[in-house]
Amino acid sequence: MKHLLFILLALLMSWYSAMAHPSALSGNEQPRASHTYRPFLISTDAQAPSDNAENKGPASQENQDSSRVVVLGYHDFSATKKATEMLIPTEKFRKQMQALQDLGLNVIGMEDFLAWRRGEKTLPDKSVLITIDDGWKSVYTDAYPILKEFGYPFTVFLYTNYVDGGGAALTSPMIREMMKNGCSIGSHSISHPYPVSIRKEQKKGDTSYAAYLRKEMGDSKQFLESQFQQKVTTYAYPGGFVTDEMPPIATDLGYECLFTVLPGKVTASSANQRLPRYVILGTHDYIFRNATSFKATSTSGASHGAIVQSTEHPVSPEPGALSETRMPTISANLSAVENLDPESIVMRIAGFGKVPANYDETRKTVTWKVKRRLRSRTCEVSVQWKLLEEKKYQKPMTWTFRIDREAAYQASPLTDK
Ligand SMILES: [Zn+2]
Repeated sequence: MKHLLFILLALLMSWYSAMAHPSALSGNEQPRASHTYRPFLISTDAQAPSDNAENKGPASQENQDSSRVVVLGYHDFSATKKATEMLIPTEKFRKQMQALQDLGLNVIGMEDFLAWRRGEKTLPDKSVLITIDDGWKSVYTDAYPILKEFGYPFTVFLYTNYVDGGGAALTSPMIREMMKNGCSIGSHSISHPYPVSIRKEQKKGDTSYAAYLRKEMGDSKQFLESQFQQKVTTYAYPGGFVTDEMPPIATDLGYECLFTVLPGKVTASSANQRLPRYVILGTHDYIFRNATSFKATSTSGASHGAIVQSTEHPVSPEPGALSETRMPTISANLSAVENLDPESIVMRIAGFGKVPANYDETRKTVTWKVKRRLRSRTCEVSVQWKLLEEKKYQKPMTWTFRIDREAAYQASPLTDK
């Protein structure tokens, strides 16, 4: 069974990798392909947080070390562009950074992470390592000011061909400035090859393939080290794609830690050449929640992760908010929607399906009062509508709020029956 799961994961992984990244052949403005991470994430999420599955590495440090590190992986940011899987709205990123603080998680830099991996340093039980792949200019314009404000160290995984690539790429001066304020760098190859290209190289034979990997992994390391005067011992596999030939070559080249895109917490027993990482997609809020959730261990209690969401229109209860009743009134204010077809509005609530919500023409608000107590810890809502004279529905607006089950018992025993 475990083997089957592993094979399934591997298949999903390679599929995911194939979809994950465009390679920047031109170096200029990288095409923003329509990546589809969904199937990969749903399936891994289903066997959710791989706190168990991750203990596969050599148990070399198997002692009292119960530290768990969440590695977050980001790509691109924008305050104005629409969110995609690869692009997170800057405001949502800020809220996530705030949530790390609110949850009391300890954000560490790569230096501390590496020292912990070497057994030279201990970490608090629940720590977070922030990483950002590819080298988009928005790292400098959008993420960096927020990270600096919170005082969070972070690591940028750069691929050689995109550094100073023009367009939306980071420039060397930007990288140098960030490195003075908490940024460290790791390698993300020379050319950010698709798995398809890697497989092609693999077929040319062992010697040729080894030379190819040495170039992608080794030359990129050398480039970064000479360009930015920092020792580079970390690598993020482009698209998370890793073949068995990569780890030994990486070790030989002097890499200490290599990161995948398989979600899970890093523990003392994780293998350094295949470290798990949560890729935070701009359009999937539950990944951040899973990343910041911790299961109980023998030495530490469980803790719930943060729901960080934003909706295009005002809603109630707000995303991530705690409802103190188990029978809340749920509403969405659609007054900013032009040409809204009121007849078309559909509200769906997890566990209830489509509900008979009311639309108030004057307030331009759709409302439904929950009729029976919500029993789960969270409640997902989706509201969808059409525009007048359009046949297709707009993309649903979805959000999740939390239910305080304890408070609901005590606060309103009469209404909450
Ligand atoms: Zn990448």
